[in-house]
Amino acid sequence: MLKAAVVNLGCPKNEVDAEKLAHLLLESGFELLAEPDNAAVIIVNTCAFIQPAVEEAISVILSLAEYKKSGSCRVLVVSGCLPQRYGAALLDEIPEVDLIFGADGFAQIPETVKGFIRKRQTRCLVNKSSDLDYSKINHLPQQISPPQAFSYLKIAEGCDNRCSYCMIPAIKGKQQSIIPEILLSHARRMVADGVKEINVIAQDITAYGRDLNGKPTLCALLRELSEIPELGRIRLLYAYPHRITDELIELLAAEEKLCNYLDVPVQHISDPVLKAMGRRDQSRDIRATLLKIKDRVPGVFLRSTVMLGFPGETEADFKQLIRFIEEGFFDYLGAFTYWPEDGSPAARFPDQISDEVKRERLQTVLATQRQLTEKRLKEKIGCRERVLIEGLSSESDLLLQGRCDFQAPEIDGLTYITEIEGDLAPGTMVEAEIHEAHEFDLFARVL
Ligand code: SF4
Repeated sequence: MLKAAVVNLGCPKNEVDAEKLAHLLLESGFELLAEPDNAAVIIVNTCAFIQPAVEEAISVILSLAEYKKSGSCRVLVVSGCLPQRYGAALLDEIPEVDLIFGADGFAQIPETVKGFIRKRQTRCLVNKSSDLDYSKINHLPQQISPPQAFSYLKIAEGCDNRCSYCMIPAIKGKQQSIIPEILLSHARRMVADGVKEINVIAQDITAYGRDLNGKPTLCALLRELSEIPELGRIRLLYAYPHRITDELIELLAAEEKLCNYLDVPVQHISDPVLKAMGRRDQSRDIRATLLKIKDRVPGVFLRSTVMLGFPGETEADFKQLIRFIEEGFFDYLGAFTYWPEDGSPAARFPDQISDEVKRERLQTVLATQRQLTEKRLKEKIGCRERVLIEGLSSESDLLLQGRCDFQAPEIDGLTYITEIEGDLAPGTMVEAEIHEAHEFDLFARVL
């Protein structure tokens, strides 16, 4: 039995691919190791949508290549966005790498690795982004490792939007939605494996189904997912403001299983900046949509993302963004400085902003939002909330950690259970009373 280890980098969409690859390797007779140090086969699933991610991927690959010198690693494989973006050139740049696979190619890894061990022929299996066909991998189930209480359900890959700063469409190709039948079978399988919370993801979940025959909608999919008996809750991430419909807002308000939470990346609020970014929204549309959600879904938590220092962003544009953030639409906000990514249209725009100004604007946004988030979480003291137990806290054995409906995995804070009575296994959904808020985390006792 060949020992293999999968090292995953990047976003939750990559995490889904890595889980599918893990399942495939087990099905193909490999032994799966959690760590690479004794693995004969090491697979690095990479992210490459921005230069810092490219550099991280290369440094991880080079550090793992050390295992080839020590002799434990016989095959070093790279998959995902880095090979998809750079193709065979990657093999020239990093000769330690034996095999590379593009964004839709990881299903071929097990057999190609076995073939490589026999013939030792370096191979590049990367299709052009315009020829990517995700239907080859959509049906593959994810390896859920109990006690995993939550999982991601990727409902589409690629993107049809054309934000001027973004390389994802060029890397991952046009949007390809996954048919509802496959998604429902994935979800049922996850729930059978103990998952209680499903996080629905894509580059833009609100564009779901537009490319499929019969144009199944996101709302129809969510209604069917909500009918899975043992599934506790569903959270929506990466909703494009432009496509948030009244139907989706009504469903968010009415459907018990849908978390009172929505992630709506807006990127900016100044119309000239939004236009230059190639975003489909104008400030009044964004504002109207957010007001409608807040009005129709009482107590909803909104997360968003903004970008600072986009070429041509004036001091006045920035001040407009700060005033918008101070209005308190968002409970959580991710903020990033603009990066002039090679190959993206915006990298050639005039009026590029200095790194110093970008950093200053970023700090101002983070400081402004921190107060709003802390205030919002303090308002939860004394409230009863549904908490999904994830297990013992990494901070202390005296604490259990979990998340409320309004805390997304890996990006928002945690809820610590301070008084533990009886066995609260991971995946248990409990009702708890919040008694303390500390920065982005909450403390609660089970009722
Ligand atoms: S919506 Fe825009 S930022 Fe997001 S993946 Fe698509 S092109 Fe990139």
